[in-house]
Amino acid sequence: MTIREQLEEREEQYLSPYAARSRESKGRMRDEAQCDIRPVFQRDRDRILHCKAFRRLKQKTQVFLLPSGDHYRTRLTHTLEVSQNARTIAKALRLNEDLAEAIALGHDLGHTPFGHAGERALNTVYHFSHNQQSLRVVDCIEKQGRGLNLTWEVRDGILNHQTAGHPHTLEGQVVRISDKLAYIYHDMDDAIRGGILTEDDIPQNLRKILGNSCKERLNKLIHDVITNSMDRPGIRMSSVVEKAMADLRAFMFENVYLNPKAKGEENKAVHMVIQLYEYYMKHPELLPEQFLYALEHTDISREQVVCDYIAGMTDSYAVEKFKDYFVPESWKI
Ligand code: MG
Repeated sequence: MTIREQLEEREEQYLSPYAARSRESKGRMRDEAQCDIRPVFQRDRDRILHCKAFRRLKQKTQVFLLPSGDHYRTRLTHTLEVSQNARTIAKALRLNEDLAEAIALGHDLGHTPFGHAGERALNTVYHFSHNQQSLRVVDCIEKQGRGLNLTWEVRDGILNHQTAGHPHTLEGQVVRISDKLAYIYHDMDDAIRGGILTEDDIPQNLRKILGNSCKERLNKLIHDVITNSMDRPGIRMSSVVEKAMADLRAFMFENVYLNPKAKGEENKAVHMVIQLYEYYMKHPELLPEQFLYALEHTDISREQVVCDYIAGMTDSYAVEKFKDYFVPESWKI
């Protein structure tokens, strides 16, 4: 018996009947020989961790654009916090922790530079949503267009992680809720750090139900998910806490995500992304080799290829490219 087979055997013994089993995965788009050490979802987790799009998350906006403070979240630290919440919940519910972790680490790979402002920009010039783009990254952009060839379960979780999505595994559902818990926790923490809000601005009735600090609220939310989902075929929360969380999220939309102080620069970011899109549409010869190849040798449209390239940019790379094309350089001699 290989180590992988032993690990798969162990899953049979300790996982909940509702968990996804590595051995029962619906498999990959292209068949591959199994690893002798790692079951499939563990292997997918490693592939995501090692891919280039994952490393670029460190320079992509979570909420605050190009923050100079070291302690603000980026898309990378957001992803790691989602992964930690998901693993805590999955472990407690005896679900497949490797699957939850793989989905969590991959869920935001398709995010544009400048967060949702970038997404909005690409959506005005073409059609774009970051969850579908995350799937494109792992399916057909990474590894020079060959993709990571991930399992069906990981791909399903990535595609359906957004609020309106319906992941088919409980591990996917765990990530979907962990994403929300993570941003409600850390975007508030960052908003307080950035002087956008104080703890006292949060409505008293919500604090009474959820707790009096970011940390207390995260703890409360995670406990609520676990106690209400234990040995059940779905991931859920109590109605009181779920309602309070929805209200807190609405409060954050009003006071953080749409706050002119935090978002004042967003229109510039939207403008920049649209300008870049139009420029590459006119000058596809400027695209890097991989994207030029896709343009010339596949039936992927020019619009899609340009979107793929721009969506992959970090905030700082997009600024640099914008300067290259639209800001005159000073004479250096
Ligand atoms: Mg996310």
